Amino acid sequence: MELEREYLLQNYSRYPIVVRRGKGCYVYDVNGKRYLDLIAGIGVNALGHAHPRILRTIRSQAALLLHCSNLYYHEYQGPLAKQLAEISGLQRSFFCNSGTEAMEGALKMALGRATPLSADKYEIISLENSFHGRTLGALAITGQAKYRQPFGPLIPGVRFIQRNDIAALEQAAGPRTAAIVLEWIQGEGGIYPLSAEFARRARELADEHDALLILDEIQCGVGRPGKYFAYQLAEPAIMPDVVAAAKPLGGGLPLGAIMANERAAAGLPAGMHGTTFGGGPLVCRVALEVLDVIRERLLHIHHVGGYFRMELQSLARRFPFIKEVRGYGLMIGMELDVPGKQIVTDGMAEGLLFNCTHDTVLRFLPPYIITEQEVARALKIITRLLKKL
Ligand SMILES: *Cc1c(COP(=O)(O)O)cnc(C)c1O
Repeated sequence: MELEREYLLQNYSRYPIVVRRGKGCYVYDVNGKRYLDLIAGIGVNALGHAHPRILRTIRSQAALLLHCSNLYYHEYQGPLAKQLAEISGLQRSFFCNSGTEAMEGALKMALGRATPLSADKYEIISLENSFHGRTLGALAITGQAKYRQPFGPLIPGVRFIQRNDIAALEQAAGPRTAAIVLEWIQGEGGIYPLSAEFARRARELADEHDALLILDEIQCGVGRPGKYFAYQLAEPAIMPDVVAAAKPLGGGLPLGAIMANERAAAGLPAGMHGTTFGGGPLVCRVALEVLDVIRERLLHIHHVGGYFRMELQSLARRFPFIKEVRGYGLMIGMELDVPGKQIVTDGMAEGLLFNCTHDTVLRFLPPYIITEQEVARALKIITRLLKKL
């Protein structure tokens, strides 16, 4: 900790534990203290820690080939892209290294398609309270002014509207719109789902104005909502043109993906986008294992998440300072009418990891392998913590 204070950029404010290892839904700090992990690397460690299939795959692939660049083919990008096409309904994928990089690619795709149609077709509609990443493009469409403001003029033509405000959406959309960008469930913003009606109108307006509908499923996708993607929760389904995914996709290794239909993919023709590290053999092979495990877990995520939310809702009836419990599957927020920081710190002392987003929303993103017994154990601790508040 002292070395970090002296030598690291001081951009993070960390909790004072040093994590050493993990197994299943538990992590252990350097003193051997055990924590039930309900935040799972902010939704990254979707199969928990040290999952045997991931371990086996990493060991085997590390001895074969770690990296070969995108100059050559390897055996795993094609099969992974095929899997993603099957589960998303979007034909073409591009692989990168993080969420923000996936959003950058999606924005380039939208602008690369729209501005050749018309020089003033470069507007992006995004939502207030959204989060899309920290690089300059993703930051420009992030609807939280405090993150954007210090960095001067960002990309022009971004229009922010309130979530679920259909009238504002209709007003903002027009022939200049290149893309509408939505998180189906806002993550950093406090676990706020979109209404299907709003998303459906976004789809219609994107069609009407020849714009792309881009969904940021970096936090809410890849199994977490109990479906492969959150947009598949709507009935009938609403098809996006582009989906960005990342966090859980690499099972703990850095992997982002853009999935796009043919219409959108044409926005990034040969030579116009790329990455050195993205989509290497190790992480692509691991992602194939991750998707294989998730396939058998979707129903479990739905059930165990439903149980967790139901129990949190009964706590909300008991403790008047709980405002609301929201979410789908294993993406759950519990909004308090007091700041949540203290309860997060108290939780660590009791051996429970979760975090607080948007000041007052306790956020739970447990691994998909969590059992009902482990959730029950977490609920006992949470009840104790709430009693202390
Ligand atoms: C985490 C996140 C990002 C950014 O991903 P990084 O991998 O941190 O760059 C973008 N959008 C959403 C919705 C996220 O939750």
